[in-house]
Amino acid sequence: MIRGTLMKFWTLGTSAAVATAERDNASILISAGEELFLIDCGGSPVHRMAKLGFCVSELTGVFVSHAHADHIFGLPAVIHARKIRCQGALPMRIFGPAKAMAAAHGILSALWDEETLRMYSNLISVPIEENYLLFESPSVHIFSTPVEHGPETLAVKFVERKTGISMAYSSDTRPCENLVRLAKGVDYLLHDSTSCMDGGSELKFGHSSAREAAVVARKAAVKRLILLHFAGYDVADCLREAAREFDGPIDAAHDLQEFSHEGSGDNRTSENI
Ligand SMILES: [Zn+2]
Ligand SMILES: [Zn+2]
Repeated sequence: MIRGTLMKFWTLGTSAAVATAERDNASILISAGEELFLIDCGGSPVHRMAKLGFCVSELTGVFVSHAHADHIFGLPAVIHARKIRCQGALPMRIFGPAKAMAAAHGILSALWDEETLRMYSNLISVPIEENYLLFESPSVHIFSTPVEHGPETLAVKFVERKTGISMAYSSDTRPCENLVRLAKGVDYLLHDSTSCMDGGSELKFGHSSAREAAVVARKAAVKRLILLHFAGYDVADCLREAAREFDGPIDAAHDLQEFSHEGSGDNRTSENI
């Protein structure tokens, strides 16, 4: 894999709570400068990375946004693969809110003893603070901010230092001003679109509709909106709903879709399935 080029990311899984034949649970792979991160860890991230030509040995870290099963249950697969593929490597840094890190420890410690866990994983609790700088390297700055979902939940933003290219991910959330501030002017906003229409029953559980995601995108003046976390409806309807509120390019992401700044001339509103 070529690194050090412009930011790229891949939506590994784009389903809401329950995976379908077409969509795996939530996970995004992002390459920014020299760093490679998983953002959320639902579904089969190791298999999906392999399909794209990546190995878990290349990962800098994993960010887990909250302690819901569909965002965290792929973690044992990552640690298992690291254990086999990365003898002698540094423990995998896993970032997330304290409740998510407690859940991660519970899941992992059911499978490995503490000594093994310390060898292969490093759980780092991220404070629930607005615009918190959780990781910094010569390549990238990563910021997080609390959003409005059931458990402690953090949205995240990656900023590639050399190019200034930026990407924000809402995680699961109701539309919120914290996220508008985090995502101000970003090149890409990936936003929860669990409900296609306003009034959907999913909204009671701390999610957003496609139109609400688009309002956040408009308020934050983002350059491109990417909808995901779909719950089994026709995404063409989502795109229509979102286009009522946001004039910029809008995608309904599909699994294993690549987004690269080099390809950003492809600015159509697309269904992409
Ligand atoms: Zn979810
Ligand atoms: Zn959730």
